Amino acid sequence: MSTGRFGIHGGQYIPETLMNAVIELETAYNHYKNDPEFNAELEELFNNYAGRPSRLYYAEKMTKDLGGAKIYLKREDLNHTGAHKINNVLGQALLAKKMGKTRLIAETGAGQHGVATATAAALMGMECVVFMGEEDTKRQALNVYKMRLLGAEVIPVKTGTATLKDAVSQAMREWTSRIADTHYCLGSVMGPHPFPTIVRDFQAVISKEIKAQILEREGRLPDVVMACVGGGSNAIGTFYHFIEEKDVRLIGCEAAGRGIDTFETAATINTGRLGIFHGMKSYFCPRHRPGGIRRHHRRRGGGRL
Ligand SMILES: *Cc1c(COP(=O)(O)O)cnc(C)c1O
Repeated sequence: MSTGRFGIHGGQYIPETLMNAVIELETAYNHYKNDPEFNAELEELFNNYAGRPSRLYYAEKMTKDLGGAKIYLKREDLNHTGAHKINNVLGQALLAKKMGKTRLIAETGAGQHGVATATAAALMGMECVVFMGEEDTKRQALNVYKMRLLGAEVIPVKTGTATLKDAVSQAMREWTSRIADTHYCLGSVMGPHPFPTIVRDFQAVISKEIKAQILEREGRLPDVVMACVGGGSNAIGTFYHFIEEKDVRLIGCEAAGRGIDTFETAATINTGRLGIFHGMKSYFCPRHRPGGIRRHHRRRGGGRL
């Protein structure tokens, strides 16, 4: 199967019960991504609802402090709901609406994606259910409050480690059981094809703007484009229009946590093992042992991590 592969990564590893939903989504996306009316509506939402284009700010003091590169910050934090998340969510919510869906479900970790999805659902008059690990609901109580204010139902997920990966599993299960009226608004470049492609395309607006803005300001392309990597959506959005530019270095930074030689790290690209999880082939970090014992013991062969 070659659909939605990025090298050896990606793909579509899903149960039969999700196949129809995924095919329906792919067909709709392939249609609407080239539809001028869809793109005009999305641009209108980006510009007049989310507040795009976001500023490219020359960080003069930081530049002087560090004494090296001239540093510009792409201010995605100035978008409505406070992050780049809204780009993807507005795209997916509009797509879902065109597909005749009336209900959005989402997973969320820190709550930013949940807040963005609840916001788009309220805007478009859609029902919204957000799955969030119970641990995360405690850590991020303010975002739970915001989602509920926006009319979303927040369901604490108690399985596993009661965090983000468990919320994704629960959202996928929910989608399987109710595909007729529900769109699963996935929050990052992950999950089965076509999600990574859809999320990348909606986030690519970031690098499209940076390119135009930096050319206007500096008359040249940057030497380096840098982004943090969680699920990878702001990174691919920030990199996308620079991938073909051979003189631009792309650097992704991932969280080392307590160190890449421990189990308490989120540096999947540096420490992860190839595996299949949540519908895709990718790198996954080995789970740390209950009780936080950090032993340098890794399973060989990369099973389900
Ligand atoms: C969600 C989020 C991230 C991580 O998610 P990606 O999908 O990797 O972009 C990073 N920074 C902020 C501010 C976020 O809201």
